[in-house]
Parts: sequence; C-alpha cells; structure tokens
Amino acid sequence: MSLTIPAQHNMVRGISADGGVVFYGVDSTAIAREAERLHKTSAVTTAALGRLLTAASIMGIMLKSTRDSVTVQLRGGGPAGKVLAVSDGTGNVKGYVENPVVELPPRADGHLDVGGAVGRDGTLDVIRDLGMGQPYVGQIPLVSGEVAEDITRYFAVSEQIPTVCALGVLVAPDLSVQCAGGYLVQLLPGAAEADIDRLEQNIAGMASVTQLLASGMTVTGMLERALDGFAPEVLDSYRVDYRCDCGEERVRRMLKSLGKAEVARLCAEDPIAAVDCQFCHKQYRVDLRELLEHW
Ligand SMILES: [Zn+2]
Repeated sequence: MSLTIPAQHNMVRGISADGGVVFYGVDSTAIAREAERLHKTSAVTTAALGRLLTAASIMGIMLKSTRDSVTVQLRGGGPAGKVLAVSDGTGNVKGYVENPVVELPPRADGHLDVGGAVGRDGTLDVIRDLGMGQPYVGQIPLVSGEVAEDITRYFAVSEQIPTVCALGVLVAPDLSVQCAGGYLVQLLPGAAEADIDRLEQNIAGMASVTQLLASGMTVTGMLERALDGFAPEVLDSYRVDYRCDCGEERVRRMLKSLGKAEVARLCAEDPIAAVDCQFCHKQYRVDLRELLEHW
C-alpha cells in the first residue's frame, strides 16, 4: 500500500483488492477528549460516550450523502442513563450522556465497566435522516451495553451484513483520554467461507484498539492488519472531529416546536428563556416576548 494520507486525517476507508471486504477505521482520540472536556464525564462514562461517538462517526462516513445524518442511542437502563451520539454525513460528531458522572468498580479483568454503566436491559436505536422527511429507524435489543458488540449485532440483525466492530477508549487515572479509536469491517454479499475464516483469524490475532493506538499504530496500520492477505487499499481518508452545529436560529426553532401556548406559559414565568445546548453546553438567552410577537 503506497498511498499516503494527509497527516491531519484520522479516518480511513479501505477495501480488499477483490472488493469483497470493506474497512473503516478512526483514531477518535481528539473526539473523546473534547467530549470529556465538554461534559466533565467520569472515567466509565467517558469510555461509554467515546465508544458511541467513535461508532457514530464511522456510521456517518458510511452514509451515502454528506447531507444525511445518523443518530445512535443506547438506552440500557443503567446508571449512565441514555447515551446518544449524532454524526453528520462527513463523520463529524456530537453527543451526550444523560448522567455524566457514574462511579463503578472496574470489571474482574480490570477494564472499565461500560456495560454496567450503560445497562443491558434496553435497546440500541439507529436513526438515519436521509433528508426525505421520514427518517429510517432501526432498533435491536442490547447485547451487552459494551457498545461494539451491540453495533456488531445491529448490522447483523437489522441490515443482514456480517460485521466486525472494535471500539476502545483508554482513560488515564487523572481522567484524561489517552487514546480512543475503532474500526468496523464488513463482508459484502457473496464472501467465500475461506475469506470469512481468514478475516476472523486476522481480527482474533489483533490486540485491542487502545493497545494498538498506544503502541503507535496508525489507522492505516489497522487496515493492513485486519485485511492481511486481502491486498487492502485505502479508498479515501477524512478528518473527523467533535463538532456542535447549534446556534441562535436552531434554539428559536426548538422553542417554537413547543407550540405557542407552551411558549406563552414559559414567558409568563420568565420572559427570558435560558437554554443550554446539551451537546456543547453553550448558553443561549432568548427573549420569549419577541418570539411570541413574531410568531
Ligand atoms: Zn451546541
């Protein structure tokens, strides 16, 4: 593989020489760091939200149009509450976790107990807005709340695409994100048994995403390892970030969606509505009297 990707690019899409295997990989360290900075999450919720943002970013790149968007949410009944991530069609993501501070003892293997924080009694929802009015909604019962397994099951059940997904966020004792990333491999229809076996062997032989990143491996390196023997090539690469697209106009639209009677009721309580963006915590102050005047 000779293609060099720009240094600032952190997402790679690759394919096997015969076109039968597709790979998406991302170094989402900067994304997970920004999520932690904005939401002041504890270690286990940093991992849960970071994993979901990583998966959502990949699923955003998978969308057909850059104008589409995808929302992925976990509602597992655990102490973290709902975890939600949204990606636009260029892989830029935003998200939140309902209860950002959850303290749980580590699992027996020493890993953060993401499944315990998210919970396992609930659903993974995927909502694709393809700009055609009615969004496409897919839902599966959660497998483990560990995120990667749930995403894998989603593609297998809801879309009948054999998929391998690995996600990881390494949180340091001081709560900072050391590294984060993930990859997703899909087999296109008609894959040979031998190819499936080979792919399974490759992936079984790989260390965890955070171990690979911490050892200095790039996303392209992950592509080469996962698709070893398939003569993989980079199709394209991207820069993806944590990005909130909120603004005054969006906040006014949100308030208007409550209906005139409700806005009038709020206005009677306090004519200045203080709105906090749940994705980036930017504060907005809207004069409801003015909003009602120009309804
Ligand atoms: Zn915002």
